[in-house]
Amino acid sequence: MPTDIRPTTGQEALELLKAGNARYVDSLTSTDEYMQRRPELVKDQNPLAIILGCSDARVPVEIVFDQGLGDLFVIRVAGNVVAPSQIGSIEFAAEAFGTQLVVVLGHSKCGAVTACVETLINPEQNYSPNLQSIVDRIRPSVYNLHELATANGQDVDADELVDRSIRANVRMSVCQLKHGSRALEDLTNSGQLLVVGAEYDLETGKVRFLDS
Ligand SMILES: [Zn+2]
Repeated sequence: MPTDIRPTTGQEALELLKAGNARYVDSLTSTDEYMQRRPELVKDQNPLAIILGCSDARVPVEIVFDQGLGDLFVIRVAGNVVAPSQIGSIEFAAEAFGTQLVVVLGHSKCGAVTACVETLINPEQNYSPNLQSIVDRIRPSVYNLHELATANGQDVDADELVDRSIRANVRMSVCQLKHGSRALEDLTNSGQLLVVGAEYDLETGKVRFLDS
């Protein structure tokens, strides 16, 4: 259920998200309580975590973490990639609200990562320049895995490559957030901001937090 508890550290915020996902997996969520806090949120917000997630319709962030109105500051973009506007949004939330946890949330069967893998397997694959700009941001994390998979001249198992690439892409976004912004790097180094990666499983509903 939504809670008024506000964590004092990033680690405490992480525990709240883990507990919320466990409620979601066990079908113990309580969406009818979400709207009760609307009046108190008119003046201010105090989100307990910042989430950089994928736009995929099957991964609605508040629902999978069983959080309510005002609890999460969410940025969603296909492939949970990091570009200047994503970094700026996170800088804003971390500085304006003092939110101490950032989660990069990838997910199984991600279409954006799959599109990127397809461009490596079939270089003649064409996307619009706008979609290509997303694919290009995913490419570095997929490229090495693809090189490794093709090193022996064997056929690539596309599903396995997508699966591994999803986690590599999350880790790359985490790294870019930790080191792609002076403001975020300072907060991280002083222990005021925790940036972690996670993967949502479409089949089980579970969020698995990745070792950094
Ligand atoms: Zn996705």
